[in-house]
Amino acid sequence: MQATKGYAAFDEKSPLGAFNFERREVGPHDVQFEILYCGVCHSDLHQVRNEWGGTVYPIVPGHEIVGRVTQVGEHVKKFKVGDLAGVGCLVDSCRECDNCRKGLEQFCRNGSTGTYNAKDKVSGGVTYGGYSNQIVVTDDFVLKVSDKLPLEGVAPLLCAGITTYSPLRHWNVGKGHKVAVVGLGGLGHMAVKFAASFGADVTMLSTSPEKEKDARHLGAHHFALTKDPDQLSTLKGKFNFIIDTVSAPHDYNQYLSMLDTDGVMICVGAPPTPSQIMAFSLIGGRRSLAGSLIGGLPETQEMLDYCAEHNITSDVEVIDMKYIDTAYERMLKGDVKYRFVIDMSTL
Ligand code: NAP
Ligand code: ZN
Ligand code: ZN
Repeated sequence: MQATKGYAAFDEKSPLGAFNFERREVGPHDVQFEILYCGVCHSDLHQVRNEWGGTVYPIVPGHEIVGRVTQVGEHVKKFKVGDLAGVGCLVDSCRECDNCRKGLEQFCRNGSTGTYNAKDKVSGGVTYGGYSNQIVVTDDFVLKVSDKLPLEGVAPLLCAGITTYSPLRHWNVGKGHKVAVVGLGGLGHMAVKFAASFGADVTMLSTSPEKEKDARHLGAHHFALTKDPDQLSTLKGKFNFIIDTVSAPHDYNQYLSMLDTDGVMICVGAPPTPSQIMAFSLIGGRRSLAGSLIGGLPETQEMLDYCAEHNITSDVEVIDMKYIDTAYERMLKGDVKYRFVIDMSTL
């Protein structure tokens, strides 16, 4: 076993703090890398505070992980020491079921292994994430990272990037489509960048008037303040697709009414409490309400390659490890521009 430095939450309420733990030795198919940057996802906060239930403490969050390879197992062909590497929300799956074979490891029939707060099939313990100095992951779940892009801006692609890229690709969103993105945070800003890059006409729906300028800079063609009833009334029946990235409970019906005939609203945000849907919100206009969970490994690599080719990264605020509790508080206020990324040398 290898001594590893990390940062953990020890219960639902206390500030996070230093936590030393062990990772496995590098096996024949494993890649080990030094973590240079780790993004801060709202899912980290949901789980640190046990808002979804099932959190095992101490929890070491972090699933937007990039770094440099320090050791590879004897059967590893894809990586060599010194290469850049990334790990997202998954570190393992059965690799045999129909979904795994289709590259949809996130829907593994036998349960994929989350990067943190999941049962570790190898050690039998719990998985620990990227708020740490190094990680050991089986090579099938390690992504190639281009050296053309600033690494701190690449880290959030591993969750915020793929979670928004995947549904846009699945529903073939592009030219001729009117797309709304709800919530300008980590996921929202990547959704705007990708939807604009795919050629869609993009509207940002936000509760924060001060974000309008940034939304337009990120690629949105229009901006509407969802707190303003006058602005909302102009949006009825307008969009072919809505990507909802909101982390807190909110009224889905309000957004469903903005869908055009056969429009689809895709929930990627995961508020901890249920939302009531009026059947009438769907019936009128034959609308659909859908969801999407991160993305599989092949599509995550495709997204990283697309970003390298099109020079797309996340807009980040790099923070020290000790700033994490303040970062969470700011995240709760919607004050993220537009992803916190931890510089792991500050651990
Ligand atoms: P984030 O950076 O905190 O952004 C969320 C944004 O939602 C905020 O910036 C804010 O934008 C808006 N918002 C917050 N509270 C709101 C409210 N009460 N009503 C309306 N809008 C509100 O969070 P994130 O990291 O992007 O994650 C967003 C959600 O996606 C979280 O629930 C997370 O767990 C989930 N998630 C899901 C997946 C998946 O696979 N489906 C993957 C990653 C994350 P404005 O200021 O513009 O209103
Ligand atoms: Zn995430
Ligand atoms: Zn499987």
